[in-house]
Amino acid sequence: MKDGKLIVFSAPSGSGKTTIVRYLLQQKELDLDFSVSCTSREPRGDEKHGENYYFISLKEFKQHIKNGDFLEWEEVYRDNFYGTLKSEVERIWKAGKHVIFDIDVVGGLRIKKKYPEHTLAVFVKPPSVDELKIRLKKRRTESDERINMRIAKASVELATAPQFDFIIENNTLEVALKEAKDLVSRFLSDELQMEEE
Ligand code: 5GP
Repeated sequence: MKDGKLIVFSAPSGSGKTTIVRYLLQQKELDLDFSVSCTSREPRGDEKHGENYYFISLKEFKQHIKNGDFLEWEEVYRDNFYGTLKSEVERIWKAGKHVIFDIDVVGGLRIKKKYPEHTLAVFVKPPSVDELKIRLKKRRTESDERINMRIAKASVELATAPQFDFIIENNTLEVALKEAKDLVSRFLSDELQMEEE
């Protein structure tokens, strides 16, 4: 591995981590590029193949698992598989950029474990589970059943927060964005040293 670093943002669905990751990608001086994951779920809203995700069939996904193509993968929700291709990280490092991930807590911690010193693992905490429910319902892109599935998982995910390097509380978005940018800048300029496991 070269000098490339890895920035992981994990959180329960609806915590606002995707908004934070998008904001960080707009900060050109940070030199970040987004790790586009593979998923077997259907596109939501105006999501685009190759931009938000590589939307592939369950069969293709399983083939990638067999081939050992993934750095990590998870069945995040039943029958919904998500995974980071090794080739994605290599592509970004080759271009001289740092990789930023928007992935679930298990995947995030797995990457941290693989590259302890090169990874900044951040957990984005929502104000409360009730607030999560409101945010997911407002999004209006999924059925009640799917929303309930995401909420049920949130409490389990929240319990993993202490295992991350940092926790950002997303109560006020502007504050969370600033905090995230400061944290990432400090990490990339080696002001924050990550300890080896
Ligand atoms: P969504 O369906 O809302 O886009 O994503 C559901 C969850 O899967 C989110 O927590 C998202 O961050 C996570 N996720 C997205 N890509 C990956 C990935 O490559 N690996 C893992 N482990 N989780 C992912």
